[in-house]
Amino acid sequence: MPHSKDSKAAGPDNSKKAARKEYICPYCNKKMNKWQVPPFNFSDGLGWCSDHLYICFNDECGFFKRSWDHMDEQFGHSMGYRAMIHPDSNECMAVPVGSVDAMKGNILDEIQEAKDEASLELRRLAMARLTDAFIARDTGPIMEILRSSEEWPSVRLKAAQMLGDIGDPKSLDALHAVEPGHDAIGKAIADAIKKIHETHFTKECPYCAEVIKARAVVCKHCGKELG
Ligand SMILES: [Zn+2]
Ligand SMILES: [Zn+2]
Repeated sequence: MPHSKDSKAAGPDNSKKAARKEYICPYCNKKMNKWQVPPFNFSDGLGWCSDHLYICFNDECGFFKRSWDHMDEQFGHSMGYRAMIHPDSNECMAVPVGSVDAMKGNILDEIQEAKDEASLELRRLAMARLTDAFIARDTGPIMEILRSSEEWPSVRLKAAQMLGDIGDPKSLDALHAVEPGHDAIGKAIADAIKKIHETHFTKECPYCAEVIKARAVVCKHCGKELG
């Protein structure tokens, strides 16, 4: 199969990279910055019809450096322009700037953006795993998520609530052993424990911690009298 290598190379990883396209300035060959278009229109009254553009913010870019002389000679304005590529048309245009630092405040942090996207995706996956386990009444994976300190607090909180809703008394010891690491999670765990006991009309002996009937006045495990 002569094409097997090519088809392997076009896996999901590559398509993700393709979606995060890089734009290179045709004048200085430096990577252009993703730039957020402000909510007002500033060029032709029509707006750019995109929430972001790619602009060369390299102050040493020849196109940018020459622009100041050009604007001065042509219009007598102390203005310059930077190279810009519109992501829809891929057309390179000039965007006017009043100073060297103008518009730099709207440069988007693409590294942070990518991180946010990736973590949102992971959280979505964790929630999907939780939901699957909940439907299957499979407490193992839910407990695993609740125990994991790597997991997002919102996902762990959901896991604690699910264990309470499933109401399996076998979850009790594991629930007591979880390090909450977070007040809200600690409360969700306490609520889950309470809910499990309510479902089964049970309580825990304050002396030996065994599960006994809620109505019991003497613990059947340690024989202590309960107040
Ligand atoms: Zn450039
Ligand atoms: Zn007891």
